[in-house]
Amino acid sequence: MTSLEAVIDLHLGQERLGPGSGEDTLRALQLTGLDTAKPLCIADIGCGTGAQTTVLAKNTTGSLTAIDLFPDFLARLESGLSEKNLQGRVQCVQASMDNLPFEKEAFDLIWSEGAIYNIGFRAGLEYWRQFLKSGGIIAVSEITWLTNSRPLEIEKFWAEAYPEIGTLDQKLQDLKSAGYEVKGHFFLSESSWIDNYYQPIAANFSAFLDRHKHSEMAIAVVREHEEEFELYRKFKNYYSYGFYIAQKL
Ligand code: SAH
Repeated sequence: MTSLEAVIDLHLGQERLGPGSGEDTLRALQLTGLDTAKPLCIADIGCGTGAQTTVLAKNTTGSLTAIDLFPDFLARLESGLSEKNLQGRVQCVQASMDNLPFEKEAFDLIWSEGAIYNIGFRAGLEYWRQFLKSGGIIAVSEITWLTNSRPLEIEKFWAEAYPEIGTLDQKLQDLKSAGYEVKGHFFLSESSWIDNYYQPIAANFSAFLDRHKHSEMAIAVVREHEEEFELYRKFKNYYSYGFYIAQKL
């Protein structure tokens, strides 16, 4: 088993694969200004096990396409949708977010929570823009500095993990440069990080380690997650996910 497979296995039982909440998804949906009573074409990119996909499925009508690179996550999303009697409401597509199998101007709304970092904020904004109809909306969450300066320890961690992390001003500028007008933004709360993401994963560590017979790789995967959680607890006043809602110009 590769360490990527181990990470997927750790996350597979999770409702959320990144910080967020149903309330955050609904708040962002409201900020889109779209009339959700009318049928919309929506893409949810990097959907994972689909916590936000399910919220979108329940609160919109029309077509909803969920995209992820990993079939295991899509299979989990599909079984979750069946349990909620939402099967048929979502079309799952296995694809890479930097090589999407869609027509240009196919969507009214592109959604992406905790996932654009895989190809980078600027690259994602630029590449995905062609798939939005004229005047279409993007709603995307992206790791953002909350202050203009911060302790070296956390600065160094993010410089390695995701050098594109930036301040709110930088992210707003990126949206503008990529051809969008920002309609709203907000930051995810501590509860969206800890209660909905970190704690549920930590609760799975021991079963995960047992399942993998405490292999070196499994221990390393858990340690890496623990370090990230610890850093968040220590430096949560310095960064969060910003949720950005913007319109294609
Ligand atoms: N939106 C979900 C998942 C966020 S985690 C949530 O908030 O719970 C990031 C997701 O991006 C994972 O599901 C991962 O499988 C997916 N991903 C990573 N690289 C990708 C790529 N190149 N193309 C599509 N999806 C990708």
